[in-house]
Amino acid sequence: MNGQTMQRIDHAEQTLLHTYNRYPVILDRGEGMYLYDTEGKKYLDFFAGIAVFALGHHYPGYDDALKMQIDKIIHTSNYYYNDPAITASSMLLEESGLSRVFFTNSGTEAVEGALKCARKYYYQKTGKTDAQIIAFEHSFHGRTFGALSVTGTKAYRDPFEPLIGGVSFALLNDIDSVKALLNERTCAVIVEPVQGEGGVIVAEDAFLRELRALCDEKDVLLIFDEIQCGMGRTGRMFAFQHAGVLPDVLTLAKALTCGVPGGAFLVSEKAAPVLVPGDHGTTFGGNPLATKAMATVFDLFRRDHILQHVEKVAPYLEKQLDALVARHEQILARRGRGLMQGLVFSGPVADITGRALEKGLILINAGPDVIRFVPPLIVTNEQVDEMVSILEASL
Ligand SMILES: *Cc1c(COP(=O)(O)O)cnc(C)c1O
Repeated sequence: MNGQTMQRIDHAEQTLLHTYNRYPVILDRGEGMYLYDTEGKKYLDFFAGIAVFALGHHYPGYDDALKMQIDKIIHTSNYYYNDPAITASSMLLEESGLSRVFFTNSGTEAVEGALKCARKYYYQKTGKTDAQIIAFEHSFHGRTFGALSVTGTKAYRDPFEPLIGGVSFALLNDIDSVKALLNERTCAVIVEPVQGEGGVIVAEDAFLRELRALCDEKDVLLIFDEIQCGMGRTGRMFAFQHAGVLPDVLTLAKALTCGVPGGAFLVSEKAAPVLVPGDHGTTFGGNPLATKAMATVFDLFRRDHILQHVEKVAPYLEKQLDALVARHEQILARRGRGLMQGLVFSGPVADITGRALEKGLILINAGPDVIRFVPPLIVTNEQVDEMVSILEASL
């Protein structure tokens, strides 16, 4: 690290609120699967800015679409219509099979909207204000009060209590643990089809179908949080499509825009009439810059058959990660789906990801003992090999 970089990082530490222990790198630009820091050092990107850059950096067609939109208009408010939002919403509904879209600026806001929809659904049905929600251990749904309340890591929640009440946590892939918590006050079950931050844990297709049947039987809304596992990451546009069930509410963000901030929650026909004028709103949500990005992302996915590419390259990544498990005693298991994979280690992985960074590979953990692999979906077999050789040298 040169003197100027050190000085800039010192400056950052004196100005930014210290809510992250950042790696000592100032990222400067990206190109495809690679990132460059301010000193010109090159990194292979297997993190994609937390599964955001599904198309990598400067994907052909993406920048031009956004630049054209910037030259037209980037904000309108929701008091008026804007064309990119109309296009993006119809693409979202086409791809998901759901009925209506509400645009947000982030993932946690999409979760807030989903929770408000669930509570209002219960209120309309019962006239009562004592709704409860079932979430899961190891889940992550965001940092605002509602989303934090349904996040399954106690240490994230405790300093901010009291959170919204009536939330209980079941065990993933254990339908009996859900049944034990479900009662006449339950308004929603919220689940990530693949848990991300909690350690890359896949909800089995059969479990999602059991949840769907249970929620139908009890007239409870089923919320799928696909903020991390959606948008092609598992080989289908949305992870729930493997299971062949529809949620009542779907939350999206991260790769939905492939870079600019933006999110959405989508609702089924049943939940579509719940939120009405006065119930919910946002100043920036659905702005033409973010929705132009979303519409462009869907266009590019279709034009360049991104899902087919994921289905081709993901088995290769799995095979190479399985080989690492076989070669190294400290690696206990691989788990995940498609291009959302985790390696479970016998101890903390922070030193390993730190050494990988020094060697030019960006990797991140998911919990203390799991290394997470969420590369841009455009990753090639050769780049998987490059990643594996740097990772192996970092063990
Ligand atoms: C990242 C994430 C969120 C929160 O999204 P933000 O945009 O950081 O607010 C919520 N749920 C899941 C599954 C996530 O991965």
